Amino acid sequence: MALYVQKYGGTSVGSLERIAAVAERVKLTRAQGHDVVVVVSAMSGETNRLLGMAQQLDPDATRREVDVLISTGEQVTIALLAIALNQCGCPAVSMTGDQVRIHTDSAHGKARITHIDTEPVRAQLAAGKVVVIAGFQGRDEHNAITTLGRGGSDTTAVAVAAAIGADECQIFTDVDGVYTTDPRIEPKARRLSTITFEEMLEMASLGAKVLQIRSVEFAGKYRVPLRVLSSFADGEGTLITYGGERMEAPLVSGIAFNRNEASLTILGVPDRPTVAAQILGPISDANIDVDMIVQNTLGDGSADFTFTVNRDDFRRARALLESTATELGASCVQGNESIAKVSIVGVGMWNHPGVARTMFRVLGEHGINMQLISTSEIKISVVVDEKYLELAVRSLHDAFALDREPQEQPMGG
Ligand code: ASP
Ligand code: MG
Repeated sequence: MALYVQKYGGTSVGSLERIAAVAERVKLTRAQGHDVVVVVSAMSGETNRLLGMAQQLDPDATRREVDVLISTGEQVTIALLAIALNQCGCPAVSMTGDQVRIHTDSAHGKARITHIDTEPVRAQLAAGKVVVIAGFQGRDEHNAITTLGRGGSDTTAVAVAAAIGADECQIFTDVDGVYTTDPRIEPKARRLSTITFEEMLEMASLGAKVLQIRSVEFAGKYRVPLRVLSSFADGEGTLITYGGERMEAPLVSGIAFNRNEASLTILGVPDRPTVAAQILGPISDANIDVDMIVQNTLGDGSADFTFTVNRDDFRRARALLESTATELGASCVQGNESIAKVSIVGVGMWNHPGVARTMFRVLGEHGINMQLISTSEIKISVVVDEKYLELAVRSLHDAFALDREPQEQPMGG
């Protein structure tokens, strides 16, 4: 007998029929003798609808009240699922984040879980109930409701699984696992039966939207056995694994991409220490995340400095950079809002320089110019013109034979 945390996302609880189907699945797990804690999202579209209403009244509504509002989406689904479970003869009880006592900091809209009291949940499990917990929400020390950021129900599920020591945290979603790349771009994309935690973290932060990044970080910290699978079809899904060498580690496991990028370049800044800090200081003070950074020394005492930001932050970042440019006497600021980042990810690539060569050759053969490159032990990211994104993803998927099982893939080079 095992203890499972099962998380169902917005599309999986998107209608009463879907909620009834989830109840059947939970009941089945119970019938196999396991204990189950369920974490649910709001019905699909609901969080956006609620946010839209707040926006209409006041675009600058206080974040405390926005959290009170948007946390109601999940309160609806816990009640409906608990009703459906009880109705089909599977005793269940719903709990809000506050009732569980999921404690968070006070960063409304992107709060972090600080700790979870496990007693209320354990007591209900001991009484033979399925516990249905509202994802995405908690409470802070001032007794205010907080939310964890978009996609935050994943993090609730992983955090609850860690707190109660679940045997597995199962994330049920509308795809049947983690794919080599987004099947909407490359129909030959293949489901991975396993992916290492490090690879999953890269895939999530590089734009593969299967899991909220924070949930992956949380899973890694507490080594929560985590599986992504479909609520619409049966299957094994994808298991996230920790440590341990994989016998057949492929060089490249997947391709991630992100369209929501923009780059900024400041040309002709003085080439001396502290300039980089001067350029990025105002950007980070404004809470703008910077991703890739490249500096070119020109040899005449000046340098060019390029970095990338989220496209949503582009205008703000550009304005800040322009005033820095004036202060530093730089020649000009250039921006590009139509770039995309494409990354190959794989724990097997760290000691294979041939992987980079293959990537660059393939892009070159397709006439795709790389504007920026950055690497880590397990990934290589390049920035390309947005219009080449699909072509880049498909040709790399082909070149690394990702449509085939690892043992059939060529060694690259
Ligand atoms: N309902 C929230 C959202 O739409 C949280 C979640 O679904 O995980 O972002
Ligand atoms: Mg989600």
